[in-house]
Amino acid sequence: MATMIIEGERTRAASGKTYEVRNPATGEVVDQVPAGGAADVDKAAQAAAKAFSSWSRLAPAKRAEILHKAARNMLGKVEEIAPILTKEQGKTLLESRLEAQRFGENIAWFADLADKIHGEHVSLPDTTTYGLVVRKPIGVTGAIVPWNFPLTLAANKVAPSIAAGNTVVLKPASTTPLATLACIEALIEGGLPEGVVNVVLGTATGEAIVDHPLIRKIALTGSTPTGKKVMARAAEGLKKITLELGGSDPCIVLDDADLEAAARAISIGRFFNCGQACLAVKRLYIQEGAYDALMEKLVARASKLKPGNGLDKDSRMGPMHTETQRAEVEAQLKDAVDRGAKVVYGGGRPKGAEYDKGWFIEPTILENVPDGARMWTEEVFGPALPVRKIKDLDEGLVLANNSQFGLGSSIWTANMAAARRAVDELEAGYTWVNALQIAHDELPFGGTKQSGFGKEHGVEAFLQYTEEKSVVYGGV
Ligand code: NAD
Repeated sequence: MATMIIEGERTRAASGKTYEVRNPATGEVVDQVPAGGAADVDKAAQAAAKAFSSWSRLAPAKRAEILHKAARNMLGKVEEIAPILTKEQGKTLLESRLEAQRFGENIAWFADLADKIHGEHVSLPDTTTYGLVVRKPIGVTGAIVPWNFPLTLAANKVAPSIAAGNTVVLKPASTTPLATLACIEALIEGGLPEGVVNVVLGTATGEAIVDHPLIRKIALTGSTPTGKKVMARAAEGLKKITLELGGSDPCIVLDDADLEAAARAISIGRFFNCGQACLAVKRLYIQEGAYDALMEKLVARASKLKPGNGLDKDSRMGPMHTETQRAEVEAQLKDAVDRGAKVVYGGGRPKGAEYDKGWFIEPTILENVPDGARMWTEEVFGPALPVRKIKDLDEGLVLANNSQFGLGSSIWTANMAAARRAVDELEAGYTWVNALQIAHDELPFGGTKQSGFGKEHGVEAFLQYTEEKSVVYGGV
């Protein structure tokens, strides 16, 4: 049975309660897991506070060295960790390997920043005093993670936090705790001191993290409704928060685009991880002249995405993570079809005995989806893409911005003036121009509008795990 990681202990829930983690491809039980609660979060927060007093005082170069060594150890275990992630989450082994690799790389990327914290010298009016602005770690931070990318989204929070000298209470999604535990164990085995990262499990631990008085900053990746609840609750404790929430990224393709490259990027952008990605091409607007040719290429690519158990070598797309998630996407598809949309590819569940026990769904492309359909107005968290023909960039930009969300966005065109306009006008935290929608460690990532605020990745994320403090030196 899996256990929580709280300081040096590998512990069950104080309540003794457990629950099962099941494989979304087969329905089989993968492991039995402690259902933690407020008492466990309290223990973890106390452990993190204790660890903070030594971790935050380490020489930053030493912290960097420890983190690099821990990351190397974890990266040596990618092949062990990937199948665990596939079994609990459903994604293909290739996707799991990439994700586990990204976890270690992210820890290493922020380790490089650990000894590069800069402050400022400020001259003051009185010549016998001068001012400094120094940056300090915040203290214990809380990391709350969803199930779609359990490892990368945990690393996005843990890596900058501990590199800056903070400690962490980490809560994976209840359905995907196992690969996260393996990654944190690998960091500890590689030399990360016990207590710097503590892992609590179960659903009730999320609210308990937000409420705990020792936890000073909360980083949540999750849905927009959860973000609102966390924000309201965190206000009680006046906590700093970072909210990485839902998205419905538009992609505009103009007539002069490289359609082969665009088709590849859109297909990966929509169907990677069985469409369960925050940053994903979720609304496609194609200019008239490119429409037929691009649709043909997209359908050809979708037809090659064989759904299957992520552990099978020939599977190109795993199942959806839960029955409820699949039902939600199917309801969104039905809504579009009932309103008159045409299914161009997919639209149902794959047939065959191997699909009976899992939450499989076909990669799906729809056109003529009417305004007001749920696929345009809500986040579609699955492998289904609504497509619309546009006359020109003006129309594309209006439609693209007609969304409550503002996470990612992309444009494909050979016209640099059009690209520049899109960069200026698309309401999103990220715009890709003729590029695959992937988030880079080097660039700050985060949304606007109902997609949240605060940044992960980049120096910006690192700085958000520090606090500025002003210092006056007198009599000098
Ligand atoms: P979710 O909001 O249901 O859960 C996310 C995490 O928050 C889980 O660990 C959950 O247990 C916890 N949680 C739920 N309610 C809570 C509460 N009241 N207080 C504290 N914690 C609580 O999201 P999900 O279904 O696991 O993930 C899918 C959602 O995440 C999608 O909307 C997706 O767009 C979003 N997402 C956003 C990003 C991003 O970076 N912007 C990345 C990935 C996923």
